[in-house]
Amino acid sequence: MQARNEIPERSTEVLIVGAGVAGLACAWQLHEADIELMVIEERAEAGGNVRTVEDNGFRIEMGPHTILASARDVFHLAEQVGLGPEIVPTRPEAAARFIARGGVLHSAPTGAWSFIKTGLLSSRAKWDLMTEPFRLQKGKPSDTAATFFKRRFGEEGARIIAGAFISGVYAGDPDLLSAPAAFPLFWGFERETGSMIRGAIRHRRRQKAQDAQLPSPPRKGLFSFRHGLGQLSRTIALRLGDRCQCSTPATAITRSHGLYLVSTPTMRISARELVLAVPPDAASRLLGPLDHALAEPLSRIPMAPVAVVHLGFQHKQGAIPEGFGFLVPRGEGVRSLGVLFPSRLFEHRAPGDGDLLAGFVGGMCDPRAL
Ligand SMILES: Cc1cc2nc3c(=O)[nH]c(=O)nc-3n(C[C@H](O)[C@H](O)[C@H](O)COP(=O)(O)OP(=O)(O)OC[C@H]3O[C@@H](n4cnc5c(N)ncnc54)[C@H](O)[C@@H]3O)c2cc1C
Repeated sequence: MQARNEIPERSTEVLIVGAGVAGLACAWQLHEADIELMVIEERAEAGGNVRTVEDNGFRIEMGPHTILASARDVFHLAEQVGLGPEIVPTRPEAAARFIARGGVLHSAPTGAWSFIKTGLLSSRAKWDLMTEPFRLQKGKPSDTAATFFKRRFGEEGARIIAGAFISGVYAGDPDLLSAPAAFPLFWGFERETGSMIRGAIRHRRRQKAQDAQLPSPPRKGLFSFRHGLGQLSRTIALRLGDRCQCSTPATAITRSHGLYLVSTPTMRISARELVLAVPPDAASRLLGPLDHALAEPLSRIPMAPVAVVHLGFQHKQGAIPEGFGFLVPRGEGVRSLGVLFPSRLFEHRAPGDGDLLAGFVGGMCDPRAL
C-alpha cells in the first residue's frame, strides 16, 4: 500500500525521456515489437519541435513545415499510425523558391537557362560555378562548409548560393560547420570525382538506375498532414495511450542493481533500458552525476538559437509571390535567415483569403537577433 505523500513507483522495460519526434518514433517501434515501454515528456504536449498550433484560424508550425517525400521511413511511420489518408503534398505553385539579394527576391535558378539569365549572381560568380567541374580537387576531413564551398563555387557563389542553403538548413556558421559532417553527400561527390557537379551527375545516374529496380517509383516533393506536422506527433502519442506521460519531466537519473532509476515530480520509474531523446544540453544535465565522461562532451554541442516569427494577415498579400519562401544569405543586411510562405504551401493555413508567413530569426551568426 502506498503511504500518504510517498511518490508512486513504476517500472518498465524501456523508459524514453522526451516525447519529441525522435522519442515518439522510438516508442512506436518498440510498441510494434511488443516491448514494454514508457515515454515521459516535460511539456504538457508531446511533439517537441514538431508541433502545430491553431490560433484564430491560422495553423502554425512551431518547427519544421514539410517532410521530404523521399524520407520513406517517415511515410512508413505515418502509414503505420493510420495517417496515410491525411498526407498532403505541397501545392504545385510552391515549387518556386527565392533568394534575397540587394533588397530583391530572385528566383533560385533551376536549370541552365535560368542560371544564365539570373540577376542573382555576377558574371564572375557564374563563371566560377560553370567551371567547377574542371577544377578537380579533393577535400580534407578538416574542411569547413566555408572552405569547401569557396573552393567549389568561388567567394560569391559560396556566400550567395551555399550561404543561403546553410542559413536555411542549419542556421549555422559556415566557418564552424564541418563539411563532411554537415554536407556528407556534396563533400563525398568531390572526394569521389574531384568535383561536386560531376559527382552529383554520377550520383543522379546511379539513383535513377536504383529507382528503376523498385516495385513502385519513389515519391517526389514535400508533404505534410492535413492538420500540420504536429498531427504525426499527436497521433503517435494518442496511439501510445498512457504509455506516454506528458507534464512529467525527468529530474534525476541514478543506477541501482542493473536498473536505471528516473525521478520525476510525480513518480519514480525503474527501467532496464533508458533512451534519452532530449536535446544535448538536457541530456548532459541528466547524465552529469551518473557518467561525467558522457555528459561533458554533450554539454559542448552548440545549438543554433532560432526564433520563428509567424505573421498572420487577414487578406492575401499581393506583394508576396507564389512559392515556397525565400532564403537570405549572410551579408545582405537583413536580420532574417529566411521566410516561408506556409499559406502558399498548403491549403487551410490561414482563415478565408488570409496569408501566413513564417520568418526565421537568429542562428549561429546572429544570436543577438533573438
Ligand atoms: C524552426 C525549426 C525548423 C526546422 N526545420 C527542419 C526541417 O525542415 N527539416 C528537418 O529535418 N529538421 C528541421 N528542424 C529540426 C527538427 O525539428 C529536429 O531535429 C527534431 O524535431 C528533433 O526532434 P527530437 O525528438 O530529437 O528533439 P525535440 O523536438 O527537441 O524533443 C525533445 C523533447 O524532450 C523534452 N524534454 C527535454 N528535457 C526533458 C526532461 N528532462 N524530461 C522530459 N522531457 C524532456 C522536450 O520538452 C521535447 O519535447 C527544425 C527545427 C526548428 C526549431
